[in-house]
Amino acid sequence: SGKSDGKGRFKFFDPSLSAALRLRAQLKHGLLTAIREEQFVLHYQPRVDTRTGKLLSMEALLRWRHPSLGMVAPGEFIPLAESSGLIARIGEMVIDMACVQIAAWKNQHAVVVPVSVNVSAKQFLRGSVKQNLAAALERHGVAAALLEVEITESAMMGDQDAIIAELAAIRALGIKLHVDDFGTGYSSLSQLQRLKMDVLKVDRAFTAELGNSREGKVFFQAIVSMAHALGMSVVAEGVETGEQLAILQALECNEVQGYFIARPMPAGDMLALMEKRFLFKAPALLDYQAS
Ligand code: C2E
Ligand code: MG
Ligand code: MG
Ligand code: MG
Repeated sequence: SGKSDGKGRFKFFDPSLSAALRLRAQLKHGLLTAIREEQFVLHYQPRVDTRTGKLLSMEALLRWRHPSLGMVAPGEFIPLAESSGLIARIGEMVIDMACVQIAAWKNQHAVVVPVSVNVSAKQFLRGSVKQNLAAALERHGVAAALLEVEITESAMMGDQDAIIAELAAIRALGIKLHVDDFGTGYSSLSQLQRLKMDVLKVDRAFTAELGNSREGKVFFQAIVSMAHALGMSVVAEGVETGEQLAILQALECNEVQGYFIARPMPAGDMLALMEKRFLFKAPALLDYQAS
């Protein structure tokens, strides 16, 4: 509600900003109910072998089925969950939901591929992620090899001795670790190797540069070479075009994930893809000449 300055103009009144603030407050206040009433749902996005298009794994992405606002994206509410301290409970729920789904797919006789869950830095600080993971695997009879963890690069930096120890314990369970959004933080590849990360997920900002400039390709190539030399596998995030895919094939990036391959989808649609196994035919796309 803005105040008129008496000359018919409004001061400090920005309707879009106040609407955004109201929405944030509404979401923040609804989080606890969302947990209690199980309004969260996981969607799944495939990752495929860059050369063959074979389904290798998938990422679980959280959505909030809000009773009045419809489907809310994680970017809208994860930060609120982090600042309000509810992220530990939501994170624990995500791990459990992923294991429930893996067990359900197994019951449907699917050849299940590993599912990665996103874990926020705050989750590590506020609870035992390793205990959550071990308990969920046990409770639902899921093999550790079918569950993976994604942590953003920035979450692992700074004074993080506790996180480092926790990551080692998680890895000791047989759970692979992914570095999410690589390139947006300030870590070096040698730091990541010391942390024994298994998979490097290159942020989609770098994938977007692939078709645009020679520098974009050179940069990506350097990441792939170093990651491989350090024993890590590389995933390109946000692959949106056939041209990007073709370049990534030439660069020998291991896996691709993005709208060009498949969008995040409900569990039922994922079951059909697990049966289909290949999401594209390789030869048609191998026409890019490295220059
Ligand atoms: P992220 O882990 O980097 O996940 C990838 C995001 O990029 C997802 O957005 C996905 O839908 C989107 N994406 C995939 N392919 C493409 C593409 O080709 N183009 C574009 N433009 N985008 C693409 P989403 O689902 O909105 O998730 C956003 C972020 O929210 C995630 O980024 C992750 O950091 C966080 N998040 C999602 N689920 C969870 C969760 O369960 N726990 C926590 N702590 N964070 C989560
Ligand atoms: Mg992720
Ligand atoms: Mg990412
Ligand atoms: Mg991201």
